[in-house]
Amino acid sequence: MSKEGTWFIEFNTPFSYHVRGIRRVLYSGVTKYQRVAIVEFEDLGKALVLDGKIQSSLYDEFVYHESLVHPAMITHPNPRRVLILGGGEGATAREVLRHRSVEEVVMVDIDDEVIRLVKEYLPEMSQGAFDNPRFRLVLQDGRKFLEESRDRYDVIILDLTDPLEGGPSYLLYTVEFYSIVRDRLSDDGIMVTQATSTSYSLRTFATIYKTVASVFPITRAYQVYMHSYDSTWGFVIGSKRYDPATLTPDEVNNRIRERISGELKFYEGDMHRAMFILPKHIRTVLSDESIKPATDKNPTFLPA
Ligand code: SAM
Repeated sequence: MSKEGTWFIEFNTPFSYHVRGIRRVLYSGVTKYQRVAIVEFEDLGKALVLDGKIQSSLYDEFVYHESLVHPAMITHPNPRRVLILGGGEGATAREVLRHRSVEEVVMVDIDDEVIRLVKEYLPEMSQGAFDNPRFRLVLQDGRKFLEESRDRYDVIILDLTDPLEGGPSYLLYTVEFYSIVRDRLSDDGIMVTQATSTSYSLRTFATIYKTVASVFPITRAYQVYMHSYDSTWGFVIGSKRYDPATLTPDEVNNRIRERISGELKFYEGDMHRAMFILPKHIRTVLSDESIKPATDKNPTFLPA
């Protein structure tokens, strides 16, 4: 492993880290917003790393992107207009574009340099999504975009970097921000956000859940195991009308068959049910009243 003796260390908390052997570094640099590396790991294959954190790897990006996109999209009866904030790799857009009902996908990412680099070094992730005629890319801060736009969407997907102090995304995990998201959703709209690790940052996950729940009438949290993150990974859905937790496996499988092109590798009816079943210790933290929603004045940061 790692013949050159090159190792990547990812801190999961200030007190623990994971070490992976690197086969080769395709790119390493700093953009206006963050540190970027595109590396090929011995075990995960090619991966995007931002500010020292693995965003996704070819080994299991399908688990993350199918889990982020399809539960919300399948819960909505007819998603036509979809907004993605973040999503640099283009794989979230790839999964949204599989839905035949979708007429337009707008993706807003703050970092043009990340997009340029993933197009050059990681085209396996987007698989042509950037060139799809239903796809439109906007290079802007996601919050600023939503504050300035009056457009409404059926589904809004928040595929942002974790809320790091001094990072570009922590103001997209607050009550004020989710209130803007709610106002830009159609009357039966649904939002979903990645919500960090349910192992290493359970309190941040719970804070994101509480923050979404303070804005939306229906809020559901779910998790999947991600080998690339060495952890179970959390997501939170906020919905105005439809509840993802009430769909049966048959309903999910029927909707997949009717609405999604191509073969999914991870998400299906039984998986949908399983994701929303959280263990007791996580449910206990989600209902801990000492954990308060994050606000612009009092945001949540990793690690917590
Ligand atoms: N899978 C990832 C994870 O779990 O951390 C998220 C993936 S995606 C690469 C994150 C994207 O969010 C990056 O491309 C980054 O440029 C973008 N981003 C960060 N802050 C943003 C902001 N304020 N507005 C829009 N995009 C932002």
